[in-house]
Amino acid sequence: MRRTKIVCTIGPSTSSTSAIHALIDGGMDIARINMSHGDHETHAETIACLRRTAEELGRNLGILVDLAGPKVRVCGLNEPIVLESGQTVTIAKESSEHTSDISVTSFEWFEALTPGDPVLLDDGALELSFVDCVESMAVFEVVRGGVLTEGKGVNIPNVSVEASSLTEKDLVDLEFALGKDVEYIGLSFVLSATDVLRLKDKISGKTLIVAKIEKAKAMEGLAGIVNAADALMVARGDLGVELPFERVPRAQKRIIRWGNFVARPVITATQMLGSMIDNPRPTRAEVSDVANAILDGSDAVMLSGETAIGQHPTKALEAMVSIIQDVECSGFLDQGPFYATFSGTHERGGATPREHAVASATVEVARQLKVPAVIVITHSGFSARLVSSYRPKAPLFAVCTDSYTCRQLAAVWGVYPILAEGVEVSYEALSQFGKNVVLEKNLGVSGDSIVITAGVPFNISGTTNTMLVEVL
Ligand code: ATP
Ligand code: MG
Ligand code: MG
Repeated sequence: MRRTKIVCTIGPSTSSTSAIHALIDGGMDIARINMSHGDHETHAETIACLRRTAEELGRNLGILVDLAGPKVRVCGLNEPIVLESGQTVTIAKESSEHTSDISVTSFEWFEALTPGDPVLLDDGALELSFVDCVESMAVFEVVRGGVLTEGKGVNIPNVSVEASSLTEKDLVDLEFALGKDVEYIGLSFVLSATDVLRLKDKISGKTLIVAKIEKAKAMEGLAGIVNAADALMVARGDLGVELPFERVPRAQKRIIRWGNFVARPVITATQMLGSMIDNPRPTRAEVSDVANAILDGSDAVMLSGETAIGQHPTKALEAMVSIIQDVECSGFLDQGPFYATFSGTHERGGATPREHAVASATVEVARQLKVPAVIVITHSGFSARLVSSYRPKAPLFAVCTDSYTCRQLAAVWGVYPILAEGVEVSYEALSQFGKNVVLEKNLGVSGDSIVITAGVPFNISGTTNTMLVEVL
């Protein structure tokens, strides 16, 4: 049973019914839709297809809608263009200008450029150097050439664009996503906890917020962001151009440790198997990167361009599954999370010391008794995330009374959500239901010890106070 979860970005390579079927069948746990690309009509079709296919296959599939945020992007490019190193290119300073080589989605940043300033395209794959402004055009020299396609990001490291992380477009996209009842909303370019709380204010339901960590400023305020958010993404594409790229590995480790400590699922993202956009086999360095992200403590690893626009989306997913399976069998994960880095005085994201104590005791008892499974009875999924953060070795069955919670828990390390449909809402009935599932799956035999955790009484949320050792 695989414990590390997989997020796949859906795009032109994977929007057909057969491609979506192949991804769900192949192990995709969360489908990500990036609102920076495509339109609502296409996204609505994709979401309908994802829901329908997951239902057919009997799988808990979560959907993450990623908001674009205040990022400058290339626009109006009908065909890919090739930029040669050393050549001069022009970017129009106003939207009406079509005689330039490249058009972009916002313009105010040109004023702040000084000659020699770098401009990075496509997560830094291409680089320009600012020369001068000539009338309505900004002129650049190509420092690092390559192929540029529509919609690629533009980063200007020397100019701080401290715009709100929620743009007008994001508000429209948010309404669309909430209308589709998606499980997660991704917030791009988070600068502080306030950004996350501002979005939380606009969400009345149970949708969880993934704070994408991709700014230097977010790294400075990480502790506050982690507490405000429900989940985190190590968004290495933008992080690796916002910070010097050599800073990314340590940022990744810090984000993951904080996430583990505060029980916030962490998704590690971008270029994990990047060469598989074009090739059927990953490089050794990529395989190693995925394995190490898992060893760092990621709840989930993500495919971006590999599944969105790649030539081998299912092969990329298969590679991800193989790497995860191998790391999980290796024994290297069994040392548990790296809490030792932090002292016990930090706030831990809304969970009380009692809840942490019960969760950690559950995992410790499970370890000592070598139980075949841990059962968490959970309504919102919060208790399941808390127990998962202590990284039990045994599979963690989350007995949920709500199918939405099941789909949300698809993102969480080691959790197997099971929907208790038509089961009486009492400790006895739900724990018996969980025990039956463990027996049906042949994980244990009658008479085995099992650990069950729950909040009693059931009707008050946030009361994980009970840990029982029972027999199957
Ligand atoms: P972000 O910073 O949010 O990751 P990105 O541009 O890097 O933005 P990804 O989600 O990482 O986007 O996807 C990689 C690439 O796949 C994109 O740059 C884009 O070219 C393509 N892509 C992704 N989703 C779509 C879509 N729905 N329609 C068309 N192309 C898409
Ligand atoms: Mg990306
Ligand atoms: Mg990004």
